[in-house]
Amino acid sequence: MDARAIRQAYLDLLREQRHAVIERAPLVLRDDPTTLFTGSGMQPLLPYLLGAEHPDGARLADVQPCLRAQDMDEVGDNRHTTFFEMLGNWSLGDYSKAEQIPMVWYFLVDVVGLDPERIYVTAFIGDSAHGIPRDDESADIWERLFRERGISFDRIDLDTEEYGNEVGNQGARIAFYGHKNWWSRFGGPDEMPVEDPGGPDSEIFYYFPQVEHDTAYGRYPHQNSDGGQFLEIGNSVSMTYRRTETGVVDLPKHNVDFGGGLERIAAAAIDSPDVYHVSLLWPMVEQLQKVTGKSYAEATTAMRVVVDHLRGAVFLAADGVRPSNSKQGYVMRRLLRRAMRFGLDLGLTAGVAAELVPVVASVYSDVYPEIAAGEADIVAVIAKEEKLFARTLRKGLSMVRRLGRTQPAISGAHLFELHDTFGMPIELSVEEAHRQGIALEETWQADFDALMDAQKARSRAAG
Ligand code: ATP
Ligand code: MG
Ligand code: MG
Ligand code: MG
Repeated sequence: MDARAIRQAYLDLLREQRHAVIERAPLVLRDDPTTLFTGSGMQPLLPYLLGAEHPDGARLADVQPCLRAQDMDEVGDNRHTTFFEMLGNWSLGDYSKAEQIPMVWYFLVDVVGLDPERIYVTAFIGDSAHGIPRDDESADIWERLFRERGISFDRIDLDTEEYGNEVGNQGARIAFYGHKNWWSRFGGPDEMPVEDPGGPDSEIFYYFPQVEHDTAYGRYPHQNSDGGQFLEIGNSVSMTYRRTETGVVDLPKHNVDFGGGLERIAAAAIDSPDVYHVSLLWPMVEQLQKVTGKSYAEATTAMRVVVDHLRGAVFLAADGVRPSNSKQGYVMRRLLRRAMRFGLDLGLTAGVAAELVPVVASVYSDVYPEIAAGEADIVAVIAKEEKLFARTLRKGLSMVRRLGRTQPAISGAHLFELHDTFGMPIELSVEEAHRQGIALEETWQADFDALMDAQKARSRAAG
């Protein structure tokens, strides 16, 4: 099954299971000032997860386009993209995990056809300080499903913040973790804003034995990704708590939520640990190979960044975002500017909007026809930003390199001048220094911030 077939089969199954399929929310939520973008399927449903009645009932499903600017630095690895689609289903106080986990299992194993032997899971170890019990309930459900297929099942406690390749450690089918298995929008029970919902979750991983156990695979093998061999494809969340001033309390209705990464499930379905090989992303890679004459194998990181950032910017443009210096527009600008920086590594000096936007439009023409419909505008918006930035980028990079030759280390004041006089974004200057092995003064960040603050104060005074 390719990604498109998986998306369709998912919605068909959930309809069969008496779920109302709801419309996707835009990438920028109108009345949610807490985050810049829709980063998960649950986010637009917050009020309902907290107890409001949903007009379509208590069993919901959708496919939600998501954008996680916070994952931008991970892009370049084999599994994180800023934009992705999340398959979601919710029971708003209707059925429990005992119904949901087997449904998800059925979907992954019997519908998509994943090998059950290669599925590994995690669960919440419990938190006595907040009165939250260990999630043996999920483990028991998983155990029954594995044993039904003749797959051995055992448990291991890995309550550590230092996680690397531990999922599947010593062959254990289920690993118990601490706050890594606590789902909320903003971290553990103590980091959650008052009123936010959260709860224990059970993450589902697919095992790729062909990936070598080394840190060279993916850029951040230990960060957020549980090592190269185990790819998180989804998770089941028991959204049963709400944060109060003093701790967490039970929500009036216990919800269960499933969120699955479409690109990652599709990667598992073709036995590829690299999401860029799925049918939604590979056509963009192919186009880049054609345009640049380089192969994906020799320019993997740069191609991943360009493909991901361009696709993200296209979806943002389709949802009405325009490059600017604040909020969502600034994230879009950063995506496009980083894409251009990595494009230089591919020999692309003039940007790639005209080459890649049509590919995105055609890949998504069935489910997101708004992209094809707005194609000319989207190309124009992105090409304008590319043109605006092309000179700055070339000049800024050569200035960073010159500083590297003439100064013992680059300072916050240098970075400020590059930013202020030439419009070179600080993160690209810093990235370039790292790339070229150029030292930065230890206090560059604080010094840069102080100069920025002083400048803001000056312009306030002038205004
Ligand atoms: P990870 O630990 O890999 O960063 P996550 O635990 O942060 O993932 P969730 O918030 O659980 O992700 O989102 C639900 C699912 O969405 C994940 O199980 C994964 O399949 C998918 N997903 C999350 N982040 C990304 C991303 N940056 N790119 C592609 N898919 C993602
Ligand atoms: Mg995770
Ligand atoms: Mg993550
Ligand atoms: Mg997760």
